[in-house]
Amino acid sequence: MSPTPTHCPYCALQCGMLVGPGTIAPRDDIPANGGGGGALCQKGWTAGDLLTTPDRLTVPLMRPHRDAPLEPVSWDTALDRIVAEIRRIQRAYGNGAVAVFGGGGLTNEKAYQLGKFARVALRTPNIDYNGRFCMSSAAAAQNRAFGLDRGLPVPITDIAAADTILLAGGNVAETMPPFVRHLTAQRERGGKLIVVDPRETSTARRADLHLQVTPGTDLALANGLLHLAMTEGLIDKAYLDARTTGFETVRTVINGYWPERVERITGVPVPKMREAVRLLGEAANALILTARGAEQHATGTDTVTAFINLALALGLPGRPGSGFGCLTGQGNGQGGREHGQKADQLPGYRKIDDPAAREHVARVWGIDPDDLPGPGLSATELLGALGTPGGPRALLLFGSNPVVSAPDAGRVEERLAALDLLVVADFVPSETAARADVVLPTAQWAEETGTITNLEGRVLLRRAAVPRPPQVRGDLEILAALAERLKAPGRFSAEPAEVFDELRAASAGGLADYSGITYERIVAETGVFWPCPGEGHPGTPRVFLDRFATPDGRARCVPVEHRGPAEDISADYPVYLTTGRVLAHYQSGAQTRRIRALVDAVPEAYVEIHPDLAERLDIAEGAEVRVTSRRGRAVAKARFSRAIRRDTVFMPFHWAGPARANLLTNPALDPTSRMPEFKVCAVRLEKS
Ligand code: SF4
Repeated sequence: MSPTPTHCPYCALQCGMLVGPGTIAPRDDIPANGGGGGALCQKGWTAGDLLTTPDRLTVPLMRPHRDAPLEPVSWDTALDRIVAEIRRIQRAYGNGAVAVFGGGGLTNEKAYQLGKFARVALRTPNIDYNGRFCMSSAAAAQNRAFGLDRGLPVPITDIAAADTILLAGGNVAETMPPFVRHLTAQRERGGKLIVVDPRETSTARRADLHLQVTPGTDLALANGLLHLAMTEGLIDKAYLDARTTGFETVRTVINGYWPERVERITGVPVPKMREAVRLLGEAANALILTARGAEQHATGTDTVTAFINLALALGLPGRPGSGFGCLTGQGNGQGGREHGQKADQLPGYRKIDDPAAREHVARVWGIDPDDLPGPGLSATELLGALGTPGGPRALLLFGSNPVVSAPDAGRVEERLAALDLLVVADFVPSETAARADVVLPTAQWAEETGTITNLEGRVLLRRAAVPRPPQVRGDLEILAALAERLKAPGRFSAEPAEVFDELRAASAGGLADYSGITYERIVAETGVFWPCPGEGHPGTPRVFLDRFATPDGRARCVPVEHRGPAEDISADYPVYLTTGRVLAHYQSGAQTRRIRALVDAVPEAYVEIHPDLAERLDIAEGAEVRVTSRRGRAVAKARFSRAIRRDTVFMPFHWAGPARANLLTNPALDPTSRMPEFKVCAVRLEKS
């Protein structure tokens, strides 16, 4: 049997893979990881082990009552219980008392169907997803500036064409190693790389210039770089006049970001800032990219806006190998936010409070627009409201593990325990599934078909390559069965191709227009870039070439001011904590902590600490350290590194139990994107 061409289950690069019985190999026809024979990282190479993980969920589980253990039951018993509870709760507390939580790893078809299920079958406004924790600030900033949010504005192969790249808050050498191939190609052309990061990561070590900012000060740095670009005559005035509005108000604000002040705020020496501006301003083509390090702040939207202002002032967006982009994180981080599982959006990246959008989507769904709920609670607010007076009393959760991945995770546990009903659909017993009243066993990546949209905005087809365990069902089948029992209007197909056709119709005319994309075209053309408004349309590899997606076609320059972290260091909590990923693990670790080779590579969480800080605190290398924030306490072993600032420690967030980094993190929200401030909080460290 020849292997099936499909894609990796993990990150937004969506590397192409050939999957056969017991085998995995990289494809060489997918640009993200192709070229030179194709590549995968160690997570991709070992993804086949997920298919045979010994603790795979294979039958529905249910607790007879809250204090009883989970027991195997039939699908009918599990689904009947869920529907009976939904009915009871909605009768007693209203439709909004049932909430839905999705994930950025779900296929486009699932993200679409989940949004439809919440609004049509449950008639609840309360649906959001874990992408709110991930890319929402970059999305909000790009929508505000460009009228459109597509992660990268150009194909990934354009990376090699950029003379200079500035990467703020992304450690691609660990999070998506095949991406480094594109940076290497850029370097071989003579290109330069600037990395902004509080840590000297493996990506920063490859850079020509590392700007080692104080955590939470990226916005000030971007404004400071723009100040220098202005004073050194590197601004593209003709571009600003022709393609943007609002720069004069930005200029007024930027006047306050003189280099010495920015050095005081960010800790980045003025000569390094000058060098960065020279590399960017003198480049024929330059790309400014942000990732979670710059975005996961209570000022995330404004921080990304500051980098967009810089890109616009240098005249970068709108040509090959140039512009502003964000590197999405989760497998379907891009597509997951386009099709309606976000609290404020409908399919096609439409706004849920736009009457024309409601009219269009309601027609596709066969309902009255007045029956469509309005915007609901964002992810952090939704989790915080569970079981509170007036808050949701039931939660249906697909493709997410918030007990490990949400900020202030201890409080999330408390809120989940206060629910009348927690339903988790997953293929492994995650820490959140372990707390559920009903657990539904789902198919996993190589067992089902569906589309994903990678970090380029390229729509790709994941194909079923292996059979699934007999009692396991796909998420679409689960939603169809629940919709039928709930007597929902309209049709809820369980077939991915049928759902995709409906998604195409629902997205038609929207910003993320998929109407011209078919499974056949994806296969024949190695992916199709949205927007693609019609089967005769070639797709759009590069956006903003002639105009931005704003009413007047011009990008918006928006003045933004530096604000410190929501929680600064103090006498009681004198050290910054920042969190992130390591190469061997992915997100909440629910999948990668089950793979022997990955556990062997990095078996446990740790606290990365500068030896000078450790000496001051009398902490020995390898010793257990208690890390305490205003919300909780975590314990992990000290790992010395001179790559981190002396005022900052780092913890990876992939582990559960006492080493859970998100017991510490701050749920303070960005006012626009509702993104929590994962990337900086104040802690104290003690020997355990
Ligand atoms: Fe999978 Fe991302 Fe690794 Fe590629 S880089 S193999 S998509 S985890």
